Amino acid sequence: MKKIMVIGAGIIGLSISYYLKKHNFDITLIEKNKAGMEASYAAAGMLAAQSEFDFYEDFMDFCIKSRNMYLDYCNEIEKASGINVEYQKSGMIRPALNEDHEKHLRANHQWQKSKGFEIEFLSGKEIREIEPSLSKNIISGLYSKDDGQVNNRKLMQALIIANKKIGNKIIENTEIKGHLIKNNRIIGVKTCNDETFNADIVINTAGSWSSLISKDLIPNFNVKPILGQMVSLQSDKPLLNKVIFASILGKGGYIVPRRNNEIILGSTMEDAGFEKTVTEEGINSILQKCNEVVPELKKLKIKETWSGFRPFASDNLPIIGKTSIENLVLATAHGRNGILLAPITAKAVEELVTNDKIMPEIKDFGVERFNNKA
Ligand SMILES: Cc1cc2nc3c(=O)[nH]c(=O)nc-3n(C[C@H](O)[C@H](O)[C@H](O)COP(=O)(O)OP(=O)(O)OC[C@H]3O[C@@H](n4cnc5c(N)ncnc54)[C@H](O)[C@@H]3O)c2cc1C
Repeated sequence: MKKIMVIGAGIIGLSISYYLKKHNFDITLIEKNKAGMEASYAAAGMLAAQSEFDFYEDFMDFCIKSRNMYLDYCNEIEKASGINVEYQKSGMIRPALNEDHEKHLRANHQWQKSKGFEIEFLSGKEIREIEPSLSKNIISGLYSKDDGQVNNRKLMQALIIANKKIGNKIIENTEIKGHLIKNNRIIGVKTCNDETFNADIVINTAGSWSSLISKDLIPNFNVKPILGQMVSLQSDKPLLNKVIFASILGKGGYIVPRRNNEIILGSTMEDAGFEKTVTEEGINSILQKCNEVVPELKKLKIKETWSGFRPFASDNLPIIGKTSIENLVLATAHGRNGILLAPITAKAVEELVTNDKIMPEIKDFGVERFNNKA
C-alpha cells in the first residue's frame, strides 16, 4: 500500500485525505498544532461563488462548480461522521446603500445574466420582503439564490471524525520543517524535532505556512497570510435567513446567521505577517459596517472575537498541482474561498494522484506559472 503524507490538517488537507482513502492508500496527516483550528476554523463559512465577484473572471466558474458539489460533499461527510454541518443553500443578498452601489450591482447583474448565472436584481422593498430586518436605507440589491453557507467549525469536527473512522491517521503537535528527497523524488518529510516519516507521496496543504516548508525546493513558490478579524453576536431569536454580503469592491462587511441564532460578522483584510491580532479598531469597523445594513444588530451582545490567516498567492488564485519534485503535490493558496473550494480541490487532487490527470479546471493553477515572474 502506498504511503501518503499530508502536511496540515485544515479543510483542504482533511478533504483531500478523506477522498484519497477510497483508493486504499495508507494516509497520515501531520499537523503542527491541533487539527482544524487555523483558517478553516476562523472562516465565516460563506459559499459565495457568485456574491464574491465584482467582475467576471474564469476563477468564478471554478468557484461555482465547487459550490454545486457542496450538497453531496456535506452529505457524505455527515454520513461518515454523524455530525450535522449545517449546510444551507440559503441564498445571498448584496445590498446597495447608495447610487454608486446600485450602479455597480446593476452592471454585475447584467454580466452575470449574460454568463447564464442565476441572479436577480431587486428593489429595496422586494429585498425587505425577503429579509425584513434589512435597513430602510437599502435602495436595491442582488439576490443569488444558489449561494449559501456551511458551519465551518462543525465541518472541521466532522472531517476529523470522518478521516479517523476510515482509518486515516492524524498526528498533532508535530511541525514539518522540510522534505526528504532522493534523485529528485520525494521519499518523506522531517519534523522540527528531526524525526522523519517516510512517504511515497507528500501533499503540502499547510495553508498560509505552505511555502515556508517547500519554498527552497520549488522556485517562486510563495504564499502569504492575509489576516481577517471576525466578531460574532448572539441573538435570542432568528433575525435573518440569508447571508448578507454587504461588500462592494472590497469595502463593507458580511453577515452570516447560524442556526443557533449566532450571527457571524466579518471581516478585515490585513497584510501584516503572522501576527494573529484582534484590535478594537478592527472589530469596531466590522460592527459599524454591518450595523448600517441590519440596524437591529446594534442591540446584540458580542459573543466572541477572533482572527485567522487567509493563504494568498501573489495572483490571488489557488496553487493546486504537481511540482518539479516527483510526487510532491501542492494544494494551497485558497485565499478568501478555501471553505467553498474544498470539494473541487479534493476531487482535483484525487484525479492527480490516482489517475495522473490534470482536471481542466486546475490547468492554470500549477506553481510553475510563477517561474517567469521572479
Ligand atoms: C477571517 C476569515 C474568514 C474567511 N471566510 C471564508 C468564507 O466565508 N468562505 C470561504 O470559502 N473561505 C473563507 N475563508 C478562507 C478559508 O478559511 C481558507 O481559504 C481555508 O480555510 C484554507 O484552508 P487550508 O486547509 O488551506 O488552511 P488552514 O485551515 O490554515 O490549515 C492549514 C493547516 O496547516 C497547519 N500547518 C502549517 N504549517 C505546518 C507545518 N510546518 N507542519 C504541520 N502542519 C502545519 C496549520 O496549523 C493548519 O492547521 C476565510 C478565512 C479567514 C481567515
